[in-house]
Amino acid sequence: MEIKTTLRQDLKQKPPLDATLPFGRHFTDHMFVMDYNVKDGWHNACITPYAPIALDPAASALHYGQAIFEGMKVFKGDDGKVLAFRPEKNMQRLNKSAERMCMPLIDENFALDALFKLIKIEKGWVPSDPAASLYIHPFMIATCDALGLAPSDTYKFAIILCPVGSYYKGGIAPVRIFVEEEFVRAVRGGTGFAKCAGNYAGTMLSQRRAVANGFDQVLWLDGVHREFIEEVGAMNVMFVIDNKIVTPQTGGSILPGITRESILQLLADWGYKIEERAISIKELEKVYDEGKIQEAFGCGTAAVVTPIGELVYGEKTFKLANGAAGELTQRIYDEVTQLQRGKCEDKHGWVKIVCN
Ligand SMILES: *Cc1c(COP(=O)(O)O)cnc(C)c1O
Repeated sequence: MEIKTTLRQDLKQKPPLDATLPFGRHFTDHMFVMDYNVKDGWHNACITPYAPIALDPAASALHYGQAIFEGMKVFKGDDGKVLAFRPEKNMQRLNKSAERMCMPLIDENFALDALFKLIKIEKGWVPSDPAASLYIHPFMIATCDALGLAPSDTYKFAIILCPVGSYYKGGIAPVRIFVEEEFVRAVRGGTGFAKCAGNYAGTMLSQRRAVANGFDQVLWLDGVHREFIEEVGAMNVMFVIDNKIVTPQTGGSILPGITRESILQLLADWGYKIEERAISIKELEKVYDEGKIQEAFGCGTAAVVTPIGELVYGEKTFKLANGAAGELTQRIYDEVTQLQRGKCEDKHGWVKIVCN
């Protein structure tokens, strides 16, 4: 499919492309969009000036939540090359989400080509500052013009880009986590493994309460027993216990993070023993009392890793790694951020050159 490109004449005034960039507020000049209907499949692929999307008020995305998204980043290396980190994984996951939400699949290679073409046009928006990057947000929404609880017959896929400052302004900093025992994020058989819009709306109240009580994020427990650890905020979670890496297995209720998968591979390369299994909050309490938890961290595209300094579970407070970033957490952060910018050997072929 051909991509029709319409460039805007009145280019936006760019904000300073550095660490001061807020998350998700400044968008680039253009976006990619394409439409789907049953007769033509995906069609009308174009790169156009960034602008609002007109939607029928009955569109299913607005009422029944047929909406999915992805999040990834591209970086500028020292040599000026623009680099993407495992972008094909995001397109694969978008299709997994689409399948779960009864939405049409996209051609992953075509979507990657479209993304790379868009980034080339917006190359001037990719920060050179190592404390910033370009965040990529592909998404798909149901656009039908009728109400009724059935899959839409029309959809829109789009990619928008925004330059963002790195999560950390002055080195990675530990966070305070509230163990959520009342609300749950997902259950097996539900949609927890998909990056669908509704999964996030349901977490906001919990997050707001946690912040009001002086916490940064919540730790989610499983929906059935309220006992097994799932994720932390919108990140996967890992523990270093007795020199082993323990992380919940992805069994349907957990979002299979690309950062998670990459970190597990690096840890295996470094010779760590990895246990992907159910870990209960009671087990965590026990190993904490025995002094065996060395480090804990969340991981995801936004921050790469977030060290957990304190975990509050009911009346009990677990203080971890002396409230600082653990040694291994720091090593992972350094390795992943260097890899993403083409500064260390890419043994697994994860880094793709978007443009020179
Ligand atoms: C996106 C996301 C993650 C992290 O996934 P990455 O691919 O590493 O960015 C983890 N948990 C949830 C709930 C998410 O939405």
